[in-house]
Amino acid sequence: MSSTDFALELRSVTAGYGSAIVLHDVDLTVPPRSVVALLGPNGAGKTTLLRVASGLLRARSGTVAISGADLTRARPARRARAGLCLIPEDRGVFTDLTVRENLRLLTPPWRRHRGVDDVLDIFPALRTRLDQRAGSLSGGQQQMLALGRAWLADPAVVLLDEVSMGLAPLVVDEIFAALGELRAAGAAILLVEQYVDHAMTMADHVVLLSRGMVTFAGPAAEIDRDAVLENYLGIDSGHTDLPASPAGHPPGTVAGPWA
Ligand code: ATP
Repeated sequence: MSSTDFALELRSVTAGYGSAIVLHDVDLTVPPRSVVALLGPNGAGKTTLLRVASGLLRARSGTVAISGADLTRARPARRARAGLCLIPEDRGVFTDLTVRENLRLLTPPWRRHRGVDDVLDIFPALRTRLDQRAGSLSGGQQQMLALGRAWLADPAVVLLDEVSMGLAPLVVDEIFAALGELRAAGAAILLVEQYVDHAMTMADHVVLLSRGMVTFAGPAAEIDRDAVLENYLGIDSGHTDLPASPAGHPPGTVAGPWA
């Protein structure tokens, strides 16, 4: 594949905070319309990688390209314009504004071909809540709003950090169905996810990150799920749907014994 064949391409990225290097020579590619699951224990550097990709943190070395354009030195707004959409762990919605106001405000001016009405067909849960303050929505509804915002931006690639964090399993199913809609609409997805089973079921490719280094990158079909859970993420894979989790974490999460 040439570099223009990737919605997102990180090459030899090294990055960190102050004197601490967190990412070491990381390569990661996301082909268009594909789903890549980025998995790894707490502190592996997953969020840091999303920050480098979206321009919130500068790479010390290496390159970041979006749809073939080298944007290593570009600010976040330029990267957004090039088709990158980050949904951070806190979802990035304006809690004091209504759902309608959020959707209007978050529609990028260069993407006016998708409107608020269209987003309601894709995310019907928002239809009856248009005039409700976003801060009064449930966590799942806020996440739908965040995904609605991503859908409005018609992005080449959406980066999602712990999209199902703190949500009930049924709501997580809805969120993953909504992710399917995003992908069907043409977006590639880079998924940092605590629900390993969901992530691996949806993903075309899996990248495993450990201590800031890529230890596996390949087709999801080639990866032994149980081996990942047990040997790499340290989770008992005896539970086929939702692997065991320690107290304080939702069942089926990877927040396991390494924490
Ligand atoms: P988690 O699943 O716990 O969110 P992660 O894989 O996303 O983990 P990061 O959040 O990227 O990991 O953190 C990687 C390392 O960088 C950790 O050691 C963390 O303490 C450190 N780190 C993260 N953010 C900062 C920051 N703003 N300043 C200094 N160090 C940071």
